[in-house]
Amino acid sequence: MRYSGWAILANAFGGNRGWRPVWRAPAPKPAYDAIVIGGGGHGLATAFYLAKNHGLSDVAVLERGYLGGGNVGRNTTIVRANYLLPGNSEFYSHSLKLWEGLERELNYNVMMSQRGVLNLCHSDGQFDAFARRGNAMRLQGDDAELLTREEVRAGWPFLAFDDARFPIRGGLLHRRGGTARHDAVAWGFARAADARGVDLIQNCAVTGFRIEGGRVKGVETTRGPIGAKRVGMAVAGRTSQVAEMAGLRLPIESQVLQAFVTEGLKPVLPGVVTFGMGHFYISQSDKGGLVFGGDLDYYNSYAQRGNLPTVEHVMEAGMALMPMIGRARVLRAWGGIMDMTMDGSPIIDRTPVEGLFLNGGWCYGGFKATPASGFCFAHLIATGRPHPAAARFRLDRFETGAVLDEEGTGAQPNLH
Ligand SMILES: Cc1cc2nc3c(=O)[nH]c(=O)nc-3n(C[C@H](O)[C@H](O)[C@H](O)COP(=O)(O)OP(=O)(O)OC[C@H]3O[C@@H](n4cnc5c(N)ncnc54)[C@H](O)[C@@H]3O)c2cc1C
Repeated sequence: MRYSGWAILANAFGGNRGWRPVWRAPAPKPAYDAIVIGGGGHGLATAFYLAKNHGLSDVAVLERGYLGGGNVGRNTTIVRANYLLPGNSEFYSHSLKLWEGLERELNYNVMMSQRGVLNLCHSDGQFDAFARRGNAMRLQGDDAELLTREEVRAGWPFLAFDDARFPIRGGLLHRRGGTARHDAVAWGFARAADARGVDLIQNCAVTGFRIEGGRVKGVETTRGPIGAKRVGMAVAGRTSQVAEMAGLRLPIESQVLQAFVTEGLKPVLPGVVTFGMGHFYISQSDKGGLVFGGDLDYYNSYAQRGNLPTVEHVMEAGMALMPMIGRARVLRAWGGIMDMTMDGSPIIDRTPVEGLFLNGGWCYGGFKATPASGFCFAHLIATGRPHPAAARFRLDRFETGAVLDEEGTGAQPNLH
């Protein structure tokens, strides 16, 4: 059923009895043309684009819990295309363009709001680095504006400018960046994939792979074996565990990242703001809560909750950047499992097992990648060839040394 103003009106007159479940709950079939493991943003987007762009609708998405219960519903919702390095730059640029048409494409309100992303800098060196990054963004065709301290003050007067521990030197403003409602993105892709015939199977954990003669033949699941000649893994924080079931050892570690939300406040933050002297980023949700986060918890874990030292660290950074935050009460905090690669960039590639494809290593930046990740992964699964926008997200870069180290911090995942 198509969502529209008319549908709301017609249903209002019909006592709202005309609404249908947003997707079906099918039992798994014995075999599919393709299986996507993981019902997060990336898995659902992959299934949607397999059906829409490649006419492959005999597809199942297998999700161990419920759709959208992983990182896609746990992130701080920031969408941006402000990368420096070739490889990342064209991919996130492609993703932002897909975001801009996503609601029409899915016939679903994902509350995409291009309210701008402001990265703050606090030294001359950082200011120069921002000028370079801004030029790279513009060369890629995206937008970037370098702001002076006074220009930042005019738009964001509540930040700590005077007597601040880390005085603000300026900022890089990316107006097309912003936020989208994270779980609506999962629901929108799920509904659109289901409408094109994809089976979305919840409470169905993959427990092993059927591999014969180096080729994938299907998967073992908690709901029995399911056959497929093409299988895509899109399991984010569980990537190294699921890949291990196929005998693969990946350059990925899993670590916790926390997020926080305050009570609802009147509109105070015009967009997303990031701190340049600590790991802290903040925006305000449409309900009014300040949504913010900081660094990883700094050790390997599969727990979806965080620890107090990081809570303290994040609050300190928030207070240093915008002291008024000390008046707001935190309502909730939660954690997600991040699939950290050794260079901070993701992998969308074939694996040594014929027919088995890998999508993972999103670190803490995979929400903004959701549409392009699904688009490019579907292309790879359907054609066997990488999509040009994701051609550098190769698995063998960790062997060849052609890494995509966006932050220049080397092979230490918890510094990215
Ligand atoms: C606190 C926090 C803040 C973040 N902030 C941002 C941000 O502001 N901007 C941004 O771009 N990114 C952000 N991220 C990162 C982003 O959320 C992730 O990179 C992205 O959501 C990962 O892709 P996904 O949506 O497919 O993952 P998920 O939603 O985690 O999907 C993976 C799915 O695979 C399923 N699965 C796992 N194992 C199996 C199995 N064996 N069988 C079947 N299913 C399985 C899981 O249950 C899960 O549902 C943040 C993440 C966190 C946790």
